[in-house]
Amino acid sequence: MLKIKNINAYYGKVHALKNVSLHLNRGEIVTLIGANGAGKTTLLNTLSGIIPAAGGEILLEGKGIVGLAADRVVSLGLSQVPEGRQVFNPLTVEENLELGAYLRYRSGGQKEEIAGDLERMFQVFPRLKERRRQAAGTLSGGEQQMLAIGRALMARPKLLLLDEPSMGLAPLVVQDIFKVIQRLRSEEGTTILLVEQNARAALKIADRGYVLETGKVILEGKAAELLENKDVQRAYLGRD
Ligand code: ATP
Repeated sequence: MLKIKNINAYYGKVHALKNVSLHLNRGEIVTLIGANGAGKTTLLNTLSGIIPAAGGEILLEGKGIVGLAADRVVSLGLSQVPEGRQVFNPLTVEENLELGAYLRYRSGGQKEEIAGDLERMFQVFPRLKERRRQAAGTLSGGEQQMLAIGRALMARPKLLLLDEPSMGLAPLVVQDIFKVIQRLRSEEGTTILLVEQNARAALKIADRGYVLETGKVILEGKAAELLENKDVQRAYLGRD
């Protein structure tokens, strides 16, 4: 589904990604773990075309996407839920969701499917349904995260990139978000790349994981194996 080969990214002289290679099989949940500043967000932004990749190759279903504009990447089936959610505060819940389908509206002819998807989002996220006419800025943090995920799903992505979905949320809300992520994979078949500080929770729902350190992949493996790995435990899992 996604293959990244030797990509690099720079911010001026800062070499933020160093020959990163990884892949995602269809229907997998893969997590990317690493300390602050390891390059996780940079990697997601490179995939979605927000930051240019310098060298290397990114193949989405076999098609090279390096150098494509971000909206083109979305229309090819990759959607990102950015760190910090970034919903459109003054707009209603429903309007935020509709904006997620903007490229589908623009390409025309999908009005009924989009309306159906909106109802589907309200089934997946019943709290959003109750608040459909409420301004997004007045939602709780957890509700805003649900909305940000729902908005990304309105583009009907094959691959969903989630950047720190648990950030700043209470533990019970985090559990809800992780349940939603699992449902998206099992019910919608969405392939998911999950960036998380909360490495333990992420590894528990993931199939595989990659550990990023100062812009390099230093370890990869099955999630269950990474959970048992002593170095990973020491550096990223803390105590239970
Ligand atoms: P966090 O968990 O804190 O979000 P991260 O793993 O997502 O961290 P990135 O945000 O990808 O890390 O940052 C990787 C490196 O690139 C860091 O050293 C960071 O300081 C640097 N960096 C990120 N954005 C910029 C920028 N706009 N300009 C310059 N350097 C940047």
